[in-house]
Amino acid sequence: MTPEIYAASCTWNKGSWELTELDVVKTGVQDLAHAMGGATEFRKNLQVVWIIRWQYCPLERFSGWGTPFHTVFLSGENVSEWTVVHELAHTWDGSNSGNLSRGLEEYVGADTTNLIPEPFKGMFGEYEYGTMPPAKGANDSLTRVEDFAESVAAFVYPEQARRYILRYYQNDPDFDFFNYDNYYHTLRAEYIARLFGTNINTLFPRSPR
Ligand SMILES: [Zn+2]
Repeated sequence: MTPEIYAASCTWNKGSWELTELDVVKTGVQDLAHAMGGATEFRKNLQVVWIIRWQYCPLERFSGWGTPFHTVFLSGENVSEWTVVHELAHTWDGSNSGNLSRGLEEYVGADTTNLIPEPFKGMFGEYEYGTMPPAKGANDSLTRVEDFAESVAAFVYPEQARRYILRYYQNDPDFDFFNYDNYYHTLRAEYIARLFGTNINTLFPRSPR
């Protein structure tokens, strides 16, 4: 059976996943594929991905874990489309040996400063996110790889990212730094657009200054 025919005739047998959860996964996959330019581009970029539902999420504060090895774990319940796209972005980065997040770091003038050697350096440690605001602000857990996954998710769901900033950074002394008018006018979106092969200036023109 070709993938196209398979995709057109999805069936669900009761198992680990609830149907409502699979709907969220499917929507996240479709939204990311759409942003990448379609199903063919999605397949080319992601290659093979296993999406596995965690029966018992080992880390309470995480609703998903996108490994660099073609596998995404999701907690199922309460998983959002944002999380699906975020975790898929990790596997996409992983299947490129972390070069996509390394590229983002360089593009936005960010830097990882610690003594942890590659390839783990970008996953942990001190991350200087540069002089432009990250998609959803920054806390201690922002690293190069998280910055990349969040930048991809924000590209797919820019309004969610913006609402998050307005809600959670409103009273932050750095609100003016983290706030932005339009995600598509940020350096991070510009970099992701390049990876997607999208001309961001045509799609989302900057207003004249
Ligand atoms: Zn992540």
